[in-house]
Order: sequence, then structure tokens, then C-alpha cells
Amino acid sequence: MTVFSTESFADHEQVVFISDDKVGLRAIIAIHSTRLGPALGGCRMYPYADEASALRDVLRLSRGMTFKAAAAGLGLGGGKSVILGDPRKSKTPELLRAMGVAVNRLGGRYITAEDVGTTVDDFAWVRQSTRHVVGLPVALGGTGDPSPTTALGVYHGIVASVAHRLGRDLRGLTVAVQGLGNVGWNLCRLLADAGAHLVVTDIDATLAHKASAEFDALVVEPDAIYAVRADVFAPCAMGAVVNDRTLPQMKFRVIAGGSNNQLARDEHGRQLRDREILYAPDFVINAGGLIRVASEHEGFNAAKVDAQVEGIGATLHRIFELASRTGTPTHSAAMQLVQERLGGHPAQPGHPLHPAGGVRGGGNNTLAERVA
Ligand code: NAD
Repeated sequence: MTVFSTESFADHEQVVFISDDKVGLRAIIAIHSTRLGPALGGCRMYPYADEASALRDVLRLSRGMTFKAAAAGLGLGGGKSVILGDPRKSKTPELLRAMGVAVNRLGGRYITAEDVGTTVDDFAWVRQSTRHVVGLPVALGGTGDPSPTTALGVYHGIVASVAHRLGRDLRGLTVAVQGLGNVGWNLCRLLADAGAHLVVTDIDATLAHKASAEFDALVVEPDAIYAVRADVFAPCAMGAVVNDRTLPQMKFRVIAGGSNNQLARDEHGRQLRDREILYAPDFVINAGGLIRVASEHEGFNAAKVDAQVEGIGATLHRIFELASRTGTPTHSAAMQLVQERLGGHPAQPGHPLHPAGGVRGGGNNTLAERVA
């Protein structure tokens, strides 16, 4: 396995490999950047085919967390961790406590949270070894499952995207939702309440039929979702859904959903622009959960979090305006703003990431101080 030449390794501040035979723990913690504050990102547990796949995943994800936190205006950096193993077979309290010890050794440079293959309740065990944890169960002073807040942010992002592209609200529009899990289901409820018609799909047919009954949604097969006639496509399942195979099928006018890494390659962002399909960059629109868990260290305030999450819509508006003005694809415009912030240039009034733009500003702020 190569490390330094692995794609996405570049710019990582620190990558830690952890092995504890006594409890069967093999894990990697990647800290991409602490430029704006401690690196926060979830801990994923997955039965990776090999070590190289686990490394690739953690590096790619930690880099994405840097962009997400910067775009949300948070005083946080980006990091991520992965535990190599099947969560259904090997996840034990001892293993989770050992992971907490590894996190603790980093002294607060990395803050962990739940992710694919781990749950909010698992972090009660991790918390026994380290205080550098967010997204804890409510009983432990945390804010519980962040998914409904992610869905709320995606909803505000869809409203903003539709207003920009179509100059109207959601009533009577059709939204195609891919994936009816924690984010997708909550999103469907918000969209249905706003008067949108829903077309839904999930590889779990039971969920799809439940959505049909609950939201009066039309159900299609998983592979048919890309070609449905809908105004908005909201991917809420997996990444790389905008690719060479799916893009030619798409007749949507907006793509705005919760999945991470929706574009298979950058080039697909350019193709979306050329086809006048407005794309809400994933790391901007799906930051609601991150905003919520980050608030735990400051004393959770629901009204404040809701206002910050609503600010995702305002941030997107400004990204869309920058993209229109400069002719760049929206994901490039978003990256430009993130790089400016990471480069240390303070956001100027009117800048999408300026606090007046509806999201919290900041550099190394209170969260960094509290968890350090
Ligand atoms: P989840 O596991 O609860 O739900 C995903 C759903 O997608 C499941 O119901 C699954 O059956 C379905 N699915 C999987 N493959 C599919 C396919 N090919 N076609 C249709 N459906 C398929 O996950 P989630 O927490 O709802 O997260 C959804 C996405 O949003 C993921 O990409 C995740 O990384 C991203 N995300 C989630 C959060 C959060 O707060 N949960 C935050 C940011 C980003």
C-alpha cells in the first residue's frame, strides 16, 4: 500500500494509523486541516476490501470536512476517522473505548462523531476515553441524531436553488428524492409540507412503499430515478450519482440533495452548468448536521442552530451569484470561496462567507478554545 502518493494525501497535516490487537481495533485518523480550528469529522466503521481502500476513503472524507466547515463559516478544520471492520460483527464497547483513547492522544486536534456504521449511542463508549466527541446522545448532554438538521439544511438549500433557477417557491413542483434513510425521509416530510409533489426511490422497497403511503409519493425503481421528469433531483443515498452514465438521462433543472461527493468528477460540474442544471454544491447544502453537532461545545441553542442552518440558503444564493457573474460552475465558485477563507483572507461584507451572509463567521473561535 502506498501512503504519500495516495490521491487526496496531499495537504494532510497528519495521518495516524492505530492498531490494538487486544480489542481488534485497526483504524486510521486523518487530520486534513486545523487552519480554522480543530478538525471535526465522523468516525466511519466499514468492512473495507483492503487497507488501501480505507486510506483512500478517510483521506477523501477528511478533506471534504475542511471544505464543509469552511463553507458553513464554522471555526473548525477537517478530519475524519475510519475503523476497519464490520460494525455488525466487531463493534464492541472495548473497541469503541480504545478508539476514544486514540482520539484522546491527539489532544483535541481531532474531534470525532458518528458516521456510517456508528451510532450516536456508540459514542457513549468513546466518551469514556475522551472528551473530544460531539453528536452524543441527549442523555449525555449531546444533541442526538444530526440527520433531521441535515435534512432541514437541504430543504433550505432546495428552496434557495429553486428561487434562483426558477424564480418561484416549491408549491406544485416535483422533487425526485433518491434514498429514504435518515436524511431523505426527513427531507420528504419538509418537501411534502411545502406542497411539493414527490417521486421517490430506495433499494429498500419497504421504505419506498412507506413513503408512497405517507407522502403520496410516486415510487420508481432505483435506476429509473435519473430519468424521471422532475424539477429538482435530491440525492440522499450515495456519492458519484452525477456521472457519465446518469448525466445524459437528466432533465432536472436543479440538483440539490444531502449526499456527499455527488459529482463523480469535476468535469460533471461543468457539464451541469452547460446544460443549465443548477447544482447546489454538496458540502455547502449538507452542512446542517455539522452545524448542529459543532454547537454542542458552545451550549446547544436550538433557535441559533436553526438560524445558522437557514443561512445555508443565503450562502447558496451568493455562490450562485458568484458563479453567474464569473461563468464558473457552482462547485468551483464554492471552492473559490472556501480557498479564500482557508487562505486566511477575511470575508468581506457581501462575500458569501461573511457573517452578514447568514452564516457564522470566524477563524479560530470559541469551539477551538473550548476543546483544546
Ligand atoms: P442512511 O443510511 O440513513 O440512508 C441512505 C438510504 O439510501 C438508505 O435507505 C438506503 O437503502 C438508500 N440507498 C442506498 N443505495 C441506494 C441506491 N442505489 N438507490 C436508492 N437508494 C439507495 O444515510 P443518511 O444518514 O440518510 O445519509 C444519506 C446521505 O447523506 C449519505 O451520502 C451521507 O453521507 C450524507 N450525509 C448525511 C448526513 C447526516 O446527518 N446523516 C450529513 C451529511 C451528509
